[in-house]
Amino acid sequence: MTTTAQQLHDLLPDLDWIADPLRVGRLSQDFAWFSPVLKRDLAGKRGDIAVRPRTEAEIRQVVAACASAGIPLTVRGSGTGNYGQSTPLHGGVILDLSGYNAFGWVRGGVGRAQSGIRLADFDAQAKPHGQELRWLPSTYRSATLGGLFGGGFGGAGSINHGPLAAPGNVLAVRAMTVEPEPQIIELRGPEAMLLHHTYGTNGIVLELEVALTPAVEWTECIATFEQFDAALEFADRFSSAPGLEKKEVCFVAAPIPQYFTSLAEHLPANQHAVLLLVAPHSEAGMRDMVAQHGGQVTYRKTADEVASSHKTLLEYTWNHTTLHALKVDKGLTYIQSGFNPMHRLKQVKALEAALKGEVMMHLEFLRTKEGAFNCSGLQIIRYTTEERLNQIMQIYRDHGVQINNPHVYIVEDGKQNNLDPAVVGMKRRFDPQGLLNPGKLRSWYATEPHAAALAPALQTA
Ligand code: FAD
Repeated sequence: MTTTAQQLHDLLPDLDWIADPLRVGRLSQDFAWFSPVLKRDLAGKRGDIAVRPRTEAEIRQVVAACASAGIPLTVRGSGTGNYGQSTPLHGGVILDLSGYNAFGWVRGGVGRAQSGIRLADFDAQAKPHGQELRWLPSTYRSATLGGLFGGGFGGAGSINHGPLAAPGNVLAVRAMTVEPEPQIIELRGPEAMLLHHTYGTNGIVLELEVALTPAVEWTECIATFEQFDAALEFADRFSSAPGLEKKEVCFVAAPIPQYFTSLAEHLPANQHAVLLLVAPHSEAGMRDMVAQHGGQVTYRKTADEVASSHKTLLEYTWNHTTLHALKVDKGLTYIQSGFNPMHRLKQVKALEAALKGEVMMHLEFLRTKEGAFNCSGLQIIRYTTEERLNQIMQIYRDHGVQINNPHVYIVEDGKQNNLDPAVVGMKRRFDPQGLLNPGKLRSWYATEPHAAALAPALQTA
C-alpha cells in the first residue's frame, strides 16, 4: 500500500477499503480499451486505493479526509464508461459509489434514487407505478444512474426524449462538495446540468431526480434488407413516423450483423439490419413499412419472452454493437458522429460510399437536445494507424458531420472544446481544491491561478 492509502485506511478503518493491487487496478479501468489510442495513453494510470461507502455519512468521511489531506478522488459507478472516464490520472482514492444505491420514490411521472442504483433496478422499481426510464443505455443492467449522468449520453428512448441533456429530462441533482467540511447542495433545472457529462470532476452526485415516461410492453424485432439505401430509408421513416410508437431504432449495415453470432439464424448473409423496439399497437404499421421498403421481419420477441429469456436486442445496440464486433475481431475500433438533421441521409450515403470496406455504418436514430429527428453514428472502423483514424474523422468533419472523438480522455477534447464556462464556475463551488480526478478538466487549469501552479506537477506525476 502507498503511504496515502495506508494513512486513509488507518484513519477510517471501519470503511470497506479495497487495497489489493489487482482489484484496485481493475477498478481504475473502464471500457477505454475499445480505443487502441486510449489503451496506450491510459496505460499504468491507476488509483492507490478504492473505497466502497454505503451511506452518506461514509461518503462524507472519505471526502473530508481526502480534502483535508489534499488527496485526489475519482468517482466511479460501475465503470462501463468508454473514455477512461473513471480512470484516476494522478492516483489517489477511487470512490466507488455502486453500493450507495437505494431507490427513493416515484411520484406521478418523476422518480428519484441514489446515484449508485443500477439503471435496470431503477427501471424495475418504476414499472409497478406504470412508468419507465426515458433512456436506457445498452449497459443498463450494470451501469448506474450517477454514471449515466456523469459520463453518458442517452440510449434506447432517446428517439422520443432526446439525450439526458435535453431540458426536462433530469430535474434535480443532490451533490456533495469536496471540502474538509463537505456541504450538500441541491440543484434544479439548468443549474443541475452543469454537473452533467463532466466525468466526475464537478462534485459528487448523491441523488438524481429524473422525469419518467409511461411504461410500454415493448416488442423486439429485427428487419433485414438487401439494399443499404432501403434499410436506411426504412429506419429513418419509421423513426420519424409520429403515429408509430417506438423506443429504439438501430441501423447496422453489412457486414456488422455478421458479428452478432448469437443472432446468426435471424441475419441473412450480406444483408443490412434494423433492430427495433416497438409498441405492440404499432407493430402492424411497422411491418407495413418494412414491406414497403422490400425488407422482412426475421426476429420477433414479445416483452414477456424478452423478460423470461434474459436476452434483449438492446444489448446489440449503441456501443454493444462495437463490443460484439470486438469479440469477433480485435483489430476494430469505432468513432462517434452526429449528423446534420437537415442532410442526415445524404451525409450517411456519401460517407458510406467514400469509406466502404474500412468504415462500417452503425446508426442510432434519436431526437437532438433541441427536438429535431436525427441519427448519430457509432461507426466501426478497421483500425490500421492512429494517423488513418484521425484522417477518417477529418473526412467525416469535411462532410459537415460532427465528431465526438472517443479516443481522447480530457472532458473538453470529447466536446470539440465547446465547454460551457459555467461548468468551471460550478467546479469552483463543488471542488475548490481541484481534487476530483485532477487533470481531467483542462479549463480548470486555465482559469484557476492556484490550479495552474499545480498543473506542471500533475503533468509530470
Ligand atoms: P462509470 O463508468 O463508473 O462513470 C462514468 C463517469 O461518471 C465517470 O467519469 C465517473 O467519474 C462519473 N461518475 C460516476 N458516478 C458519479 C457520481 N455519483 N457523481 C459524479 N460523477 C460520477 N452510454 C450511453 O450514454 N448510451 C449507451 O447506450 C451506452 N452504451 C454502452 C455500451 C457499452 C458496451 C459500453 C462499454 C459503454 C456504453 N455506454 C453508453 C457508456 C456507459 O456505459 C454509460 O455512460 C453508463 O451509463 C455509465 O455508467 P457507469 O455506472 O458504468 O459509470
